[in-house]
Amino acid sequence: MVRASIHIRGIVQGVGFRPFIHKLVREFGLVGTIKNTSSGVELELEGERETLEALAACLPKRAPKLAVIEKLEICFSDVLRGFSDFQILTSKTEALRDTLISPDISICPDCLRELRDSRDRRFRYPFLNCTNCGPRFTIIRDVPYDRAKTSMAAFPMCPDCEREYHDIENRRYHAQPDCCPVCGPRVFYLDGEGRRVEGDAVELTRKALKAGKIIAIKGLGGIHLACRCDDERIAKELRRRKQRDEKPFAVMCRDTACAETICAVSDAEREILEGFRRPIVLLKKKRPGLGHISENGFVGVMLPYTPLHVLLFGDDIDMLVMTSANLSDTPMMTENEEAVRELRGIADGFLLHDRKIQTRCDDSLCWVLGEGEYFARRSRGYVPFPVRMERKLQPILACGAEQKASFCLSRETYVFPSQHIGDLKNMETFENYTGQIAHFENLFDICPRTLACDLHPDYLSTRYAEERAEAEGIPLIRVQHHHAHLAACMADNGVEEKVIGLLWDGTGLGTDGTSWGAECLIGDFHGFARFASIRPIPLIGGDLVTKETDRVAFALLREAGLPTDRIESAETYGRILDLGLNCPLSSGMGRLFDGVSALLGIKTRCSYEGQGAVLLEAAATEDTGCFPIAWEGEPLRLDWRPMIRTLVRAFDAGECVGDLAARFMNTLIEMAAVQCLRAREKTGLHTVCLSGGSFQNMFIMSRLPKRLEAEGFRVLRHRRVSTNDEGISLGQLMIANAALEIGELSRS
Ligand code: ZN
Ligand code: ZN
Ligand code: FE
Repeated sequence: MVRASIHIRGIVQGVGFRPFIHKLVREFGLVGTIKNTSSGVELELEGERETLEALAACLPKRAPKLAVIEKLEICFSDVLRGFSDFQILTSKTEALRDTLISPDISICPDCLRELRDSRDRRFRYPFLNCTNCGPRFTIIRDVPYDRAKTSMAAFPMCPDCEREYHDIENRRYHAQPDCCPVCGPRVFYLDGEGRRVEGDAVELTRKALKAGKIIAIKGLGGIHLACRCDDERIAKELRRRKQRDEKPFAVMCRDTACAETICAVSDAEREILEGFRRPIVLLKKKRPGLGHISENGFVGVMLPYTPLHVLLFGDDIDMLVMTSANLSDTPMMTENEEAVRELRGIADGFLLHDRKIQTRCDDSLCWVLGEGEYFARRSRGYVPFPVRMERKLQPILACGAEQKASFCLSRETYVFPSQHIGDLKNMETFENYTGQIAHFENLFDICPRTLACDLHPDYLSTRYAEERAEAEGIPLIRVQHHHAHLAACMADNGVEEKVIGLLWDGTGLGTDGTSWGAECLIGDFHGFARFASIRPIPLIGGDLVTKETDRVAFALLREAGLPTDRIESAETYGRILDLGLNCPLSSGMGRLFDGVSALLGIKTRCSYEGQGAVLLEAAATEDTGCFPIAWEGEPLRLDWRPMIRTLVRAFDAGECVGDLAARFMNTLIEMAAVQCLRAREKTGLHTVCLSGGSFQNMFIMSRLPKRLEAEGFRVLRHRRVSTNDEGISLGQLMIANAALEIGELSRS
């Protein structure tokens, strides 16, 4: 007989871990204790050494699906305590801030069965959950995680729920949000004026939706606007009321079979669609059309993830448009009163409930590349789970960029990336941003001693960082935008050595004061050199070009020495350019896409940033041709003028626009290959990191890595954080940490 102390770290609280251990220990015929500690759980077990080792070996394999075991340590001792049975020791009231918090989890198969079982006491109850599923992050106000510190505190358990909660044999043992129709939250239905309508709220909503109404529906991390998606007029009406002209809507489908009626679903995509995190997955349309939902080649599809959603679909609604309820780029609404007040004239009815959304969390959005998620937005279902690094990090807050704002906080080997925040361009979003920073610092007990931000002085995130650094007297490290993209991709892949980076996006302030965005950098966490880029484009009217993309088309024509009379406002643009008034130079890849998209007549006026590029991708055929590539200057820059001349000539000769769009992107892929080959010649490096918003282009993502791999490169792209600016804060954090390490070395 020996005694084993087993210490387990990771997400092991609030996920049914102790009942699981209880069963396992009994199965192995062992005795001892289990208790929660500040960093996980600790087991003390006595028995034969082989038996104890066998238990430790099968523990990770059989752990509950929500549990994440980061580390399992076991040590043996001959000193026995003489346990006679297995006991669960209640945790001390000390703050358990060292543990991790689970994201929100979609309804599990057991709960789904109960929801549909007319004999079950939770039959058709929209809030049923258990230790394997339900809300977590969005209801937690503070730690340690127990009911009193969540928005379930307002709902004391009834005796039946209480019994289940304390019964270790029960699936709801210590399930903090557990409840039933007797004791838990309730749904209710309001008409468009905000007046209560008596009756079954879910049925009233279903009826209204079927009749073509637009209904606001409160979910886990925020409120959605929902409507039928089979009727073009209704979707258009929703666009009109929301003033969302052209941005694609997400769709919620009853099940994968429904999704397959409009989209192709691969095995890997099915797995992620149906998985317990339930992101919106961008699926390829089966055939062109559905323009009222999405004007490009993809539709964002998610499956119902709460019991309320399941009830809503019943067995006769196949799919619904589901878009965040917000006004002009402000955060998604979460409060009942706010929704009723602000959505007047937009929503025809409201399906709300009386459980507070503690923390706003938008739906996650991803493509599936290879086997896994490729994020455009890492949020519900993933946040606040950390990204683990190989090395111990200083406590740092990295403040992100401006568009697709996010932040990251570090503690030891963990980096905690925030949920989706949105574009930091209005007060409401900024308040959400600062509020979430405070919330994360409290939840994970992090007091950052260093701040990191973008080089751009006008970003609200930079101003926040500056003010805070000043107020708290702590250092602030400013990180060049594309260097941060590079470092984010390195950190995402656990790489520390020097790499070649292709960093393509719309804009980011360069070290020379101009706007960059089609960069080939060579560097690591400690620094970088700009190896290659593209010939800069004058942006006629500055920021105006992101919407009025024919301004870029004009600049491309003019620089290429071609006639510009095909551009409507050519005369005005020409005058502005000649005077050099507000015509900053930019090497942004996004701008080149915009300009070419406008030249090809695909999109000359954009209602959201990147639209020109997205539609160009959607228009592209499988054409494998390429335009001529020329180089100029230092750093090695693509001279796009010969390409533009060939492209315009072919367009005027009536060649297929889709072929030209494909050829344009093939040219960029060839450009990247040449840049990487030259970089390898010079440095001997053969790892290439891809990061930046332009790599949200699946035409490029399905070709560029293959092209580079054929040349013998190792190609890394994002896996755990978004490739767009949302991923930037991770890179900022790693660069700041590297700077601190050097600083410490030189001091000592
Ligand atoms: Zn469940
Ligand atoms: Zn109850
Ligand atoms: Fe960027």
